[in-house]
Amino acid sequence: MFKDFLALIYPEFCVACEQVLTKGEDQICTDCRYHLPYTNTHLDKENILLQKFWANQPLHYALAYFYFIKNSRVQNIIHSLKYEGNQAVGELLGKWYGAILTEQGFNQTFDIILPVPLHAARLRQRGYNQSDCFARGLAEAMQIPWSAETLARGKATQTQTRKSRMERWQNVSDIFVVQKPELVDNQRVLLVDDVITTGSTVESCLQILQNNGAKELSVAAIAVARF
Ligand SMILES: [Zn+2]
Repeated sequence: MFKDFLALIYPEFCVACEQVLTKGEDQICTDCRYHLPYTNTHLDKENILLQKFWANQPLHYALAYFYFIKNSRVQNIIHSLKYEGNQAVGELLGKWYGAILTEQGFNQTFDIILPVPLHAARLRQRGYNQSDCFARGLAEAMQIPWSAETLARGKATQTQTRKSRMERWQNVSDIFVVQKPELVDNQRVLLVDDVITTGSTVESCLQILQNNGAKELSVAAIAVARF
């Protein structure tokens, strides 16, 4: 009752299309939920996202909930998640997607869910990791363990002197570390990102997970850019 009254004075808006939400809707309106550009990658084992990584990294599954299109409803959702502090929408999308994946039996396919970590400076600035919001929702819906600390951004510790300039640059620009190797070793890992564009960050993470003995590697993202 009180909530209905509040909704009259302070209506909530759909984060995707900015229309007023009606009773029973949360974050995303029914029309958007129906019309968002779903990839259905979970129904196609040889999908475009998998093929994108295939050359460099053998992946078990590559899953993306939406296509990322500029100036679209999906971009509005991602903007709200990343720049307006709307962690709840990330978690909600994780729950929705996790429910779909569970229906298809994917909840039996992974042992642990790990989000792609943010740079420490960015994490301090934003206060949260948007990929982790989505990962939490997925973990809850699929009833799979999840860890935000296992995969972390690290610093190059090995000696740099004998590397070429290019190698040194790559070495310091994007280094990841596995802080709890026992959670990765011989496990079926689902790596979770927000939006996959070039895929280079994901590839670096996959490499370090493979180096730490992961048995199977899969990727899930909120959205993937069309390519
Ligand atoms: Zn909407």
